[in-house]
Amino acid sequence: MTPAPLPFFQKQILDRKKELEAVEEYPWEELAMVIGEVGFSCTLCARCCTREFNGHVLLLDEDAARIRSIDPAALAPPPEFDLSDQHGTFYVAGYTLRAQPGKRGDCHFLMDGRCRIYQERPMICRIYPYMLHREPDEEGVFDWRHVSGLDQHGEYHFPILPDVAREIACDVKAFEAAVLRQEIAFFEYAARYFPAHGLRPVRKRFDDGMRALRAGAAVRVEVFFGGAFESWVVQGGECTPSATKKSAGI
Ligand code: SF4
Repeated sequence: MTPAPLPFFQKQILDRKKELEAVEEYPWEELAMVIGEVGFSCTLCARCCTREFNGHVLLLDEDAARIRSIDPAALAPPPEFDLSDQHGTFYVAGYTLRAQPGKRGDCHFLMDGRCRIYQERPMICRIYPYMLHREPDEEGVFDWRHVSGLDQHGEYHFPILPDVAREIACDVKAFEAAVLRQEIAFFEYAARYFPAHGLRPVRKRFDDGMRALRAGAAVRVEVFFGGAFESWVVQGGECTPSATKKSAGI
């Protein structure tokens, strides 16, 4: 008999399923109206392509597969992880793009202020700066957020045709739903993988591991991709794929 998933995984899966339902039910008309009102226009400042401004680029599996075929060295584990096991190994739901050395953390593909893979750029770069997230604001009120970095880059109040706003709104909804489905698949896989390998999620090891990483220690990171984990070693801002990859079997 398959053992029941640990409560930790059950909660993560349930939370994301609720968010997925909310994203799917969100009326695209409302999002299209916001997009039309905001009227964002890119000024090619390239700030959105830096970690300093935007954190890391979140890759769907299909993005990661395409980018791996273009330049395998562009993929890296994200700087934030989802959980740790009792041995201090981290686990994360997907890849990001490697950052270039330097304080700004320019995207691997940013060169002279332009994207080297513009036609093949990841989904999140296509829909940016629009999003459909529920997050607490400064007063702790939990509500939808639609635009990233509002008034911090680009120009606003440009006319956007209704058909274009509708298309963007549908793409944003599809992207946010795909992110949540990827996270659900990750936690469902981990819920089977952990007990099968005698592992359990341990919050204290997560906190200890993050401290050790910041102090320069090497940590192992398992990245969920294509329905299995791929092993990496991360140390001092560098990351290398582990020579021994974990088998996809549970
Ligand atoms: S892939 Fe291109 S558009 Fe996306 S963050 Fe990198 S440089 Fe910018």
